[in-house]
Amino acid sequence: MEREDEAAMTFIAWPFGQDHLMGFLGGPAAWEASREGPAALEALARAELRAAFGPRADAALRGAPVLASDWGNDPYARGAYSHARPGRAAARRILGTPLAGGRLCFAGEACHPRLAATVGGAWESGEWAAHAALAALAGVPPEPVR
Ligand SMILES: Cc1cc2nc3c(=O)[nH]c(=O)nc-3n(C[C@H](O)[C@H](O)[C@H](O)COP(=O)(O)OP(=O)(O)OC[C@H]3O[C@@H](n4cnc5c(N)ncnc54)[C@H](O)[C@@H]3O)c2cc1C
Repeated sequence: MEREDEAAMTFIAWPFGQDHLMGFLGGPAAWEASREGPAALEALARAELRAAFGPRADAALRGAPVLASDWGNDPYARGAYSHARPGRAAARRILGTPLAGGRLCFAGEACHPRLAATVGGAWESGEWAAHAALAALAGVPPEPVR
């Protein structure tokens, strides 16, 4: 956040017509909420919505069930998005390059040279890895990462 009064969270309402409201929080505020627990996160989300929409937000969400995820402390996630350090985006291509003639491949959102941090990038890099593995099994060299 750059200003004191700036919103800490962003929200997506009614995704694909579902009666859900999703809030996103990152950075130091997210770590603080994570330490304080899900009730603190819910209180923060409700306060953010109240600041944007006034008391109507409380009325609309009264009694609504809440689910808080905490990827930072999930041992299989340990955060939200992968990222390359500034100037190091080329490392993604290197990470996605098959090793041992295609017998060892890394795939996923961090490995795509252009679509990093997206489902599309993760999916495509998985397909490339699968093709490389099949090529290795067939005894042909893997295609280079596009
Ligand atoms: C809040 C948020 C919103 C997003 N919104 C969008 C969006 O709108 N559009 C979009 O394209 N992308 C979005 N993304 C990004 C997208 O979700 C990811 O880029 C994508 O899911 C990454 O896929 P992946 O297969 O590389 O990794 P993951 O989906 O993270 O899969 C990795 C899997 O490996 C498992 N794992 C980890 N360690 C181990 C281990 N040691 N042993 C066994 N299993 C393990 C994990 O549990 C997990 O299931 C969003 C991400 C976040 C966090």
